[in-house]
Amino acid sequence: MQSIEAFFPLLNQPKKIVITTHQKPDGDAMGSSLGLYHFLTGLGHSVTVISPTNWASFLNWMPAVNTVIDFEMYQHKAKDIIAEAEVIFCLDFNTLSRIKHVEPSISKANCIKVLIDHHQQPQEEAFTYGISNTFKSSTCEMVYDFIVASGNQDKISLDIAACLYTGTMTDTGSFRFASTTASVHKMVAHFLGLGLKHSVIHDNMFDNFLENRLRFTGNALLNRMEVYYEYNTAIMCIPKSDLKKFDIKTGDSEGLVNYMQSITGIKLAAIVIDRDEERKWSFRSKGGFDVNEFARNHFEGGGHKMAAGGRSSDSLEKTYSHFLTVIKQYEAELNKN
Ligand code: 5GP
Ligand code: MN
Repeated sequence: MQSIEAFFPLLNQPKKIVITTHQKPDGDAMGSSLGLYHFLTGLGHSVTVISPTNWASFLNWMPAVNTVIDFEMYQHKAKDIIAEAEVIFCLDFNTLSRIKHVEPSISKANCIKVLIDHHQQPQEEAFTYGISNTFKSSTCEMVYDFIVASGNQDKISLDIAACLYTGTMTDTGSFRFASTTASVHKMVAHFLGLGLKHSVIHDNMFDNFLENRLRFTGNALLNRMEVYYEYNTAIMCIPKSDLKKFDIKTGDSEGLVNYMQSITGIKLAAIVIDRDEERKWSFRSKGGFDVNEFARNHFEGGGHKMAAGGRSSDSLEKTYSHFLTVIKQYEAELNKN
């Protein structure tokens, strides 16, 4: 993988460009993709954003989200566009397995591939150019850096600012995580200087749900959470029946895992949800426990040191009991001060 600076000269001639991101895109995945979309479109490129799957409805206010192609719904069209692409940007993921059934088309595409991402252990050989920096708050911040470093700071529009603000906000837990550096605040100051209405974005993202989502959260906290103080661990196990009962859609369970971290002393919070195709895990940690390694070693996943995800093909009961067996190995580490 060559440095991202080596790619900059290629921005000067109009190209057919595809931007893709991880499955079930979150604020950072969608924000970075659409922020880059607006930037590249403004330079005269022909750009298509392709998402491997659908996304949460609270992202539907984002400028140009209606142009994003859901690969699961429009496979033929998406495959044709990928086959014609001269450049493919891969944002907010670093291993092709994270893009599900888009992987074969992207692997096969014989064109320039550019990575912009902040997760650990990138699959560097899969990309022509790129930047991978685990110290960055978000892929949105990295897209901002990309635009500025390529000499195009003056091209940052309100649409670009809205998209990049969104993902930076979601990936930093609304600017509270340690990853919220001075550079993050300087970038936000630039956006506010342009006239960005940040409080509208917070409303769109966090105060824009149906009643059922809150009731689902209440039920999960009351009936599905177990706390194991001997391991400083809290876990929630969400059966399919809950998803059905509360009519849960993509994105409705986002953030649930974070509630458990508000219990004093909890170092590891985990949630497993019984999705149709797999059991999907989310892990969060405090106090130095490395959930990226934990997810990689035991749950076919990865991510960041303090926030990671994984999966299992086992039943909900089986993967839950596997978790309970596995954390025993970490008892000493989870009890360290
Ligand atoms: P979340 O729990 O919010 O879905 O994900 C937390 C972090 O871990 C995100 O940065 C996400 O991209 C990453 N992540 C989630 N699931 C997986 C997975 O199955 N594999 C890998 N490598 N990363 C994941
Ligand atoms: Mn991210």
